[in-house]
This record gives sequence, C-alpha cells and structure tokens, in this order.
Amino acid sequence: MDDLKYGTRNKRGDWKPNGRIEAVPLWNWPPKLPKILAWLPGYIWPWNAFHMATALIYWFYVVPDVETMKTISWGWALWLYAVNAAAILVFYGIFELRYYIKRAQQTRFKYNHKFPGDAPSDVFWFQSQNLDNFLRSFFITIPLWTVVEVIFLWCFAKGYVPWVGWQDHPVYLAALVLVAPAIHEVHFFFIHRLIHWGPLYRWIHSVHHNSINPSPWSSLSMHPVEGFLYHAVAFWHLVIPSNPIVALFQLHVAGFGAVNGHLGFDKLEVTEDTAINSHAYTHYLHHKYFEVNYGGDGLIPLDRWFGTWHDGTREGDAMMDARFQKKRERMNARA
Ligand SMILES: [Zn+2]
Ligand SMILES: [Zn+2]
Repeated sequence: MDDLKYGTRNKRGDWKPNGRIEAVPLWNWPPKLPKILAWLPGYIWPWNAFHMATALIYWFYVVPDVETMKTISWGWALWLYAVNAAAILVFYGIFELRYYIKRAQQTRFKYNHKFPGDAPSDVFWFQSQNLDNFLRSFFITIPLWTVVEVIFLWCFAKGYVPWVGWQDHPVYLAALVLVAPAIHEVHFFFIHRLIHWGPLYRWIHSVHHNSINPSPWSSLSMHPVEGFLYHAVAFWHLVIPSNPIVALFQLHVAGFGAVNGHLGFDKLEVTEDTAINSHAYTHYLHHKYFEVNYGGDGLIPLDRWFGTWHDGTREGDAMMDARFQKKRERMNARA
C-alpha cells in the first residue's frame, strides 16, 4: 500500500498520518446518530471482539472448575500463568515476527523509521530493548496479571461477590461488556496519570518509558507496581455486580489490548490493499512526548477534559508546547 496517500514522511523517514485523531462521536453535542453508528463497528471489530473471544476460550477451556478455584493452589495458578504467557508469546509474537523481524511492510505506516532491534542502548538490560522488554513482560508483568486473575476467580468461586448469571440478566451483562473498555480507559488514565508524578515516575513508570520507540514487547514492559495496578482493572468486577467472563474480558482488554498502543505502525497491511487500523498513534505520541495522552483513544475523553490531549496535528503540537512553556515558567518561578 502507498502510505503517502494516508500521511507524510519527514526527512528522517518518520511517517505521520494526515488529519487529526478523531474524537469518539459519543461525545459530540448534539449527538449525531449516523456518526455513532459508523463508529460502532470499529469499536467492536476486530480488537474488542478478539478480547471477548479469548475470554470465552479461557472460560470454557482454560479456567478450572469452580470447586477447584475455591482453594488457591500453585497447580491452577501456574497453569493460568503458562497459558497467559503462551497466549502473549503467540499473539504479540505474530506482530513482532511479521512487522519487526521479517519487516513485511518495511517502514510503511511506521511512525518511527528505526527498529528497536537496530539500536542498542544502556538504559536496557543487556543493552537490548527487545530482550529487556521481553524478560520484564514474561517474568514480572504476566505473573502479576495471573495474580490478579487468580484473586478474582477465587472471589467469584467462594461467593464473596455477586455472580450475575447470563440467563438471569443477559441485557445487563451485555451492556457491562460494552462499557468495559470505558472502565479500562478511566482506570488506566488515573493510575497512569498518578505514576507520571515526579517521584513515582522515577521509581515506577520510567521503566515503561525507556522505550521511546515502542514495539510489541514494550507493551507489558513495566515496573512490578505498574504491572499489578494496570491489570487490577479487573477488580472493578468485584465491586460492580458482574460475571467472571466479563471480568476475564476486562483483564484481556488490558493484557492483550496493551499491544495496540505499542505496535508502532498506523496500519497493519494484511494483503496488497487491505489493512487493519492499529489505533496506535495516540499512545505512540505519549511515548514520544511523555506528558500528553495519558488515556487511550479518548473513549472517555479525559485527556481533553484535563487539557493533555494531543490529536497528532500542528495545533496539537502548539497546545502541548504552550503547556510545557507554562510549566517551565512555574518551575523557574519556584526556583
Ligand atoms: Zn506505553
Ligand atoms: Zn506514561
């Protein structure tokens, strides 16, 4: 595909999309139904549909029976860890293999023309972003994802929290599934904003930001505190009356969905003239500029409301520069 039909490339070779990152039309006033209807399929397909599919596969084929889950044991905890790790190895691995190792579409639609594998750096373990990100994901973050999973499954199994049945309340649970990505957005925005506060940033979140040019393995490369808090989004289903399948979906939106922001490509070419939108640009800008776009795609437009939204345009740059300038002045006045 010709990426210059969709964007521009600068002298360095970095590509950026034309136009702005569109606001989710739910927030336009007055609401425009045709726009919302046009947005809805992309909300569900392919990413959220995939997270639901994996949640169902887990529930029917991976998660042990309720009797077993009434007692926490190493057996089923390690089994869940093994499946989570294998699933991420395959799912993220497909992107890594096709777009970063085979470089099937070279730098077409790639925001940063460089590939992390070509740039050794001292900030990473073994000077390798790939190895560092990979080890942190599999030996720190995925174990903590599994801890969250074991805790909420155990709470459901023990009957400590309400277990809403699909037969009794199908409409309520379906609505909860549709709302789950919004819960993710709010949860992620606030923990993420919190760990951008100076001392917490240096202690915790700087680990994730070592990857200025993120790739799939960067997605879950986190400090343990962040790795736990990030996946703890599923605990909201211990507070809201819910069902373990919906909680699993919530967990997968976080765990599997983290890859979206870190794909590094705007479109993933599937065939000569078809491509999937990655939705990666918003979070790519966060890795590039640090103090913009703390949330995701703006499903709940918290960045707009807090004045930290960057829509990828020149005006977005100007707003960000003005904000940084003000911050510098405040700091100078204090010094
Ligand atoms: Zn990130
Ligand atoms: Zn951040």
